[in-house]
Amino acid sequence: MISCHEAVDQLWEYLDNTVDEVDRAKVEEHLARCRRCCAEMEFAQELRRALANGAEVDIPRDVLNRLQQTLEELEQ
Ligand SMILES: [Zn+2]
Repeated sequence: MISCHEAVDQLWEYLDNTVDEVDRAKVEEHLARCRRCCAEMEFAQELRRALANGAEVDIPRDVLNRLQQTLEELEQ
């Protein structure tokens, strides 16, 4: 199974549907087994929706902080 770091690395591409079939399956397998990344994906989806609503919408600072924090945790 791929690592959390690899899964998160591909998360945005996964959400954009730009990963190939093989990578997609790997990410899905990881998400199915890893509660932390599953929560992370839901968070990323939410963030992405907020961004899609318009570039003029500011991302709340606490959301950015949370994203930053999560990424740092995963890189440890
Ligand atoms: Zn994970």
